Amino acid sequence: MAEAQAFVTLATTDAYSMGCLVVGKSLRRHGTSRKLVAMVSPNVSRASRLALEDVFDEVVVVDVLDSRDKTHLTWLRRPELGVTFTKLHCWTLTQYSKCVFLDADTLVLCNVDELFEYEELSAAPDPGWPDCFNSGVFVFRPSLNTHTQILEHTAQHGSFDGGDQGVLNTFFSDWAVKDIRKHLPFVYNLTAGAIYTYLPAFQQYGHHAKIVHFLGGTKPWHLSYDPQAANESSLRDSSKNFMNLWWVEYYSQRQLQFKKDDKNKDYS
Ligand code: UDP
Ligand code: MN
Repeated sequence: MAEAQAFVTLATTDAYSMGCLVVGKSLRRHGTSRKLVAMVSPNVSRASRLALEDVFDEVVVVDVLDSRDKTHLTWLRRPELGVTFTKLHCWTLTQYSKCVFLDADTLVLCNVDELFEYEELSAAPDPGWPDCFNSGVFVFRPSLNTHTQILEHTAQHGSFDGGDQGVLNTFFSDWAVKDIRKHLPFVYNLTAGAIYTYLPAFQQYGHHAKIVHFLGGTKPWHLSYDPQAANESSLRDSSKNFMNLWWVEYYSQRQLQFKKDDKNKDYS
């Protein structure tokens, strides 16, 4: 049985692979002891893949159309769920016994290796509907059996939100009530929107943030780096600061050693 454990992320475009790069770099910066895996679809450019190979232990090309017959058929029945199906491919990484999936639009702020102490399926509540988990950060156990079951489930029931989160919430449908130990603290999937919807809570607990998730239509790579804003640190601009922190990570050299004190500078 496989013993290794890995962080896994995904890109189906060159833009999202910029995100993957930051996920990988931020995990390395904080000294993870686990393997790093990026899943990419075949259309991702060679240049992007090479950049990822610099940071990740494995860059796995996943193509739903090329995989086993069953997967292929499932895909043909629900072509609109292409990206979602690609994400579900993480269950095929059976060279690892346990993994943590991180969306390409996340940024890791400290060492989060303790996530591997959680069991499948552990995730944080979605801020929009907290009885659903957010599928941007989740702990899972690769298994071809589970993979097939989830694909069958998807083919049958579709996705109520058109993405992987809808699929996974109906598949792991007892998450909300069954076992509180599978509820990751919100600080492992802090969505920038929460800063605005509950500012006092962010003021109280924001400095405990461990993983930021740039959920929604505006991704850090859509905006440009603003060094001016990086030097200001008003709370109201925290979301902007996280965006800048993302760019700092994007441009950082892997071997560059940052002073420990600098780590929380932008959002304290
Ligand atoms: N993704 C991708 N290509 C796409 C859309 C999504 O590779 O065109 C992957 C990527 O890893 C991304 C995840 O699927 O982080 C979920 O999508 P996204 O983060 O955009 O959704 P949100 O978190 O905003 O709901
Ligand atoms: Mn996301």
